[in-house]
Amino acid sequence: MSGFKDLMAFQRQTEALAQVAGRLGWDQETMMPEGASAQRSEEIGALEAVLHARRTDARIGVWLSRAKAPDAVGEAKLRLIRRVYTRASKVPGRLAEEIACVTSLAQGVWAEARAKENVAAFLPTLAKVVALKREEAAALAGGGDPYDALVDDYEPGMTGAAMADMFRAMRPRLVALREKVLGAPAPKGVIGRFGQDAQLALSREIATAFGYDWNRGRIDLAVHPFSSGSGHDVRITTRVSETDPFNCLYSTLHEVGHAVYEQGVDPAYALTPVGQGASMGVHESQSRTFENQLGRSRAFTGWLYGRMREVFGDFGIADAEGFYRAANRVHPGYIRTESDEVQYNLHVMLRFDLERALIRGTIEVGDLQEAWNTRFRADFGVAVDRPSNGMLQDVHWSCGLFGYFPTYTLGNVYAGCLMQALRADLPDLDAGLARGDPSAATGWL
Ligand code: ZN
Repeated sequence: MSGFKDLMAFQRQTEALAQVAGRLGWDQETMMPEGASAQRSEEIGALEAVLHARRTDARIGVWLSRAKAPDAVGEAKLRLIRRVYTRASKVPGRLAEEIACVTSLAQGVWAEARAKENVAAFLPTLAKVVALKREEAAALAGGGDPYDALVDDYEPGMTGAAMADMFRAMRPRLVALREKVLGAPAPKGVIGRFGQDAQLALSREIATAFGYDWNRGRIDLAVHPFSSGSGHDVRITTRVSETDPFNCLYSTLHEVGHAVYEQGVDPAYALTPVGQGASMGVHESQSRTFENQLGRSRAFTGWLYGRMREVFGDFGIADAEGFYRAANRVHPGYIRTESDEVQYNLHVMLRFDLERALIRGTIEVGDLQEAWNTRFRADFGVAVDRPSNGMLQDVHWSCGLFGYFPTYTLGNVYAGCLMQALRADLPDLDAGLARGDPSAATGWL
């Protein structure tokens, strides 16, 4: 057998084990009994150790040096394996292990500090995480920009400088737009109680219309909506608020966007390096296209209004135009995950600037709270009232996820670009959306 065949057989097992690890994570958020959490963390840790050892296995280097790809897809597989292997090999095993260990503990410290509104309780742990990530970034960058080296993990080829340019152009316009929208009278929201079963049934109906394949997926309830898996098993979660049906409907539609992207990959690529999304930003572009560009469009909300009236009766909105405004409401708030299209990217830019400065060493964790609060006031016009509404709100930094936040905005921007091209190619798009049928758009994607 050539190096290529050996390498692919080895890689396929690694990909399968990575799917197993993901499924354990899914189970933890949906089904796992509470008392199992310590054992589960050990189970996941053991699997991660196996995965890290396989990704840095010295045989990969030998196989890569001998492997001849039979075709262009094979070349892409080799390129992706080489990329992961080169990156993983630059990070000393001791450092990788320490990062895994410290970040797994840091998440608990962060959760407790957030619950107690105690920034000081989190800072020593965050300082450790930042020190380790700086070390990792330096090892990966090899003299280049350390933040870019981390970003490259989530958005290959992207740089902090390119994103800073983009954000510089967006930020003043978004701040001005935010002020203008919030200065105008707020549109009416929906009122009433929306039963959980009916919301979930409607969410399933919409997921089906957007092309979610139930034979290769399922929806369950979880605290945080997410999608996980690839190939023939792509699951999503959602959540329900009985007073805010948009929460469930649009969270579901967002995750369906992620899931349909994975389900759309050629089945022949399942469990291979080319069998998954291209980058975090591209992934997010699909979810944002489903959720916002299509799901919150005037045409689709027109259909949704009628359908919701059939399911829930009167909920205080007189017509489809009012419903469109309600579904696109902009409201003041501190929390990124609850924010709307106007304010979401401002939340991301704030985190991008702070985490980039942290990794480059131009600020320290002790400066973070003041820097956060000053910036928040400048962009959002209000003072942060408590740490859980400020720098303690997101889990990312405790997990060591530096360089991840900007991919959310990249996803929004890619989605806007895709939508422009999609509309140019599909002039009748709105006629389908107005019937609750997005298949022209999902087919195009
Ligand atoms: Zn997403």
